[in-house]
Amino acid sequence: MISISSVNPTAAAAATAATSAAVPSIQPQRRQQLLFLSPPQHHHSRRCLTVRAIDAAQPYDYEAQLNQRFTQSTRLRIAIVGFGNFGQFLAKTFIRQGHTVYAFSRSNYSSIAQSMGAVYFSDVHDLCENHPDVILLCTSILSTEQVLKSLPLQRLRRNTLFVDVLSVKEFPKNIFLQVLPTHFDILCTHPMFGPESGKYSWQDLPFVYDKVRIGDEDSRLKRVDNFLDIFKKEGCRMVEMSCSKHDRYAAGSQFITHTMGRILEKLELEDTPINTRGYETLLDLVENTSSDSFDLYYGLFMYNKNAMEQIERLDLAFEALKKELFGHIHEVLRKQLFGKSEEGGAQKPILAKLPKNNNGTPLLPSPSESVSSRGDGGGNGR
Ligand code: NAP
Repeated sequence: MISISSVNPTAAAAATAATSAAVPSIQPQRRQQLLFLSPPQHHHSRRCLTVRAIDAAQPYDYEAQLNQRFTQSTRLRIAIVGFGNFGQFLAKTFIRQGHTVYAFSRSNYSSIAQSMGAVYFSDVHDLCENHPDVILLCTSILSTEQVLKSLPLQRLRRNTLFVDVLSVKEFPKNIFLQVLPTHFDILCTHPMFGPESGKYSWQDLPFVYDKVRIGDEDSRLKRVDNFLDIFKKEGCRMVEMSCSKHDRYAAGSQFITHTMGRILEKLELEDTPINTRGYETLLDLVENTSSDSFDLYYGLFMYNKNAMEQIERLDLAFEALKKELFGHIHEVLRKQLFGKSEEGGAQKPILAKLPKNNNGTPLLPSPSESVSSRGDGGGNGR
């Protein structure tokens, strides 16, 4: 659009007048902004002024339509591969936000998909031929490599974005880099919540991501942002972090949490009428972790190289705590056994009064005896 004043002041005045007559209902200021002048025909011939009032051509809900067009441009077609517990949980939010969800899984989830408004494919070739913008891997950690290798990549658009949500991160990153041709984009993510902890809201829940390989075209950068925006819009705390750093932190936090949850589950804790807040927290922990599959927990252990160290630390910590407790009991018992005798040092210890063996020596030597026996060669003189 060319503004009148920038073209020719005389023409501008004429145009304003002409438009006033032609489109009287438009406010003068607005009209002035929307005039379109045709270029001058000849330097001194009569100037032909073409005026087009854009307003007149716009439907009354122009802004709403613009808004809709913008929303449509940010909508994604997301193919969820692995439509189990977590895949379905994510799908509900994607659909609520207006994205299109395609689903594929080993089991048949067609009726569940239909009930939530997702399109279920029983053949992965058909899914890929629909050219989703994003392939989101929601399979178990253990099956990820096999599932990824079984996808007909040749049926996808060449720059499709691959995303995973596995609870370990270095493993899928390496698998993606090994299996996917370089023209595919890779985003590794871990929503650090699940169907239990994110049941009511995702507000302030951490979402970790690593843009492993994204092409530098605008559309590809925008697509990643659109995907991340899904979680941003729900209020997640977005944390950009390398996969290796994630695994280090997660072994010390998430793996320990799951391990404690599973240990407590084995104790079959009861709900009592006198639950303390702390105890309630433990019951919640059991509930939060026990609904996750054992495959998931095993994956946290097997596919995070830092997990083994954490199991060992846990073991050592438990042993150290037991020692501390039993050591304390030992002290108390000694006090009860020896009473004041040890305080003054003068009285004979109770142990010295223990029954003697056949040759008259006490079963345990008194402290003074043991000192003297050490002095004469470790008691061998007897
Ligand atoms: P899961 O037991 O880790 O995975 C179940 C999914 O894996 C199902 O879709 C299942 O397909 C598929 N699967 C398992 N074995 C398979 C095989 N041999 N071949 C093909 N597909 C197979 O449970 P989940 O909770 O749904 O977790 C899915 C992913 O999300 C995991 O990688 C997990 O680490 C991640 N994640 C989970 C949570 C959570 O709170 N649950 C949170 C963050 C991230 P079928 O159902 O069709 O058998």
